[in-house]
Amino acid sequence: MTKMLETNLLPAYARAPVTFVEGDGCWLTDDNGERYLDFAGGIAVIGLGHRHPASTRAAHEQLDRLWHVSNLYWTIPMMELAKKLSERFGGAQSFFCNSGAEAIEATIKYARKATGKVGVVALEGSFHGRTMGSLSITGQAAKRETFAPLLNQVSFAFLNNPLSLRAAALADTGLIIMEPVQGEGGVHAIDVEFAQAARALADELGALLCFDEVQTGVGRTGSFFSYESLGVRPDLVTLAKGLANGLPIGALLVADGAARGFEPGEHASTFGGNPVACAAACAVLDAIDEELLANVRQMGERLSAGLREIPGVSDVRGAGLLIGADVDGAAAEIAAKALEHRLLITTCGANSIRLTPPLTVSAGLVDQALATLREVLT
Ligand SMILES: *Cc1c(COP(=O)(O)O)cnc(C)c1O
Repeated sequence: MTKMLETNLLPAYARAPVTFVEGDGCWLTDDNGERYLDFAGGIAVIGLGHRHPASTRAAHEQLDRLWHVSNLYWTIPMMELAKKLSERFGGAQSFFCNSGAEAIEATIKYARKATGKVGVVALEGSFHGRTMGSLSITGQAAKRETFAPLLNQVSFAFLNNPLSLRAAALADTGLIIMEPVQGEGGVHAIDVEFAQAARALADELGALLCFDEVQTGVGRTGSFFSYESLGVRPDLVTLAKGLANGLPIGALLVADGAARGFEPGEHASTFGGNPVACAAACAVLDAIDEELLANVRQMGERLSAGLREIPGVSDVRGAGLLIGADVDGAAAEIAAKALEHRLLITTCGANSIRLTPPLTVSAGLVDQALATLREVLT
């Protein structure tokens, strides 16, 4: 079945040889009825677990009411979601789109419009998406090279190196962008000093500071926004992956105090603010309470501590349930072997694995995943 159908898909991905037909909590079932423990979480997307009752019900109810009318008109889920996000941020306006890369595109355009400056400073090792704009500011030359020329006036600074940040900045810098924890780039966190240096530099240059929280946001690292632990307030925040527990959605949040940008007609997305996706996202936000965030922190610590005890695992890092570790051997091979043992994990570099289970994961399932990883790695 899998083999027969795959010939009709462009070979853009190196997919694993498994076809999933059902999900439930932290579990997936394939087309042979085999069950898998999901510590990939659809790449840090399935925050509440598969088929979570609250987000499923919210999406169902909205499906039965109204699917789409475009942004020529108002819809209620979109307005409610914007209100909830503003409350979480402490005063922000939202632009809705359908993916992380689209949220980044909106950021790039917004910063240009609001500051009148085209330069972007991003970080080496960063990941911001695959569209031409988001790829241009992604700090991984191997991903960019094939598709050059991209946007110019982009420079890259080294993670947690304030001097290199200052050196990368130009007079025409209108946007400084970074992930609070680099996800695809290997799970590397920025430190408080660096975040503060970025804030100060943005203020000095009249640039906007954006935290790309597409992967880290919506509770993934143990607080609703990951930047909360840095003591720095950004002007812009991008969200996507976990926002609607698996339905496609992206958002750009603009802080109330930030320089004003878009006027009507200057940016748009036909599907942006889709009522079904926004209704599911509202349910996700309602579900992310102190209890769930405490679970993220506790399970993250349990998972990290367990990983540190497995021979062949080194440099366990991350925050909450965004965890990376170096392994002896090729990470892709280890992920493939884990799949054979019915455990899904992802990679974030040639020799690094990444674990991003649902935020609702239990201690029992964390221990089960650790036991499987021990088998796979030793
Ligand atoms: C995944 C990711 C993106 C891109 O999101 P898509 O929905 O795949 O376009 C952008 N930024 C970060 C930090 C990401 O992890």
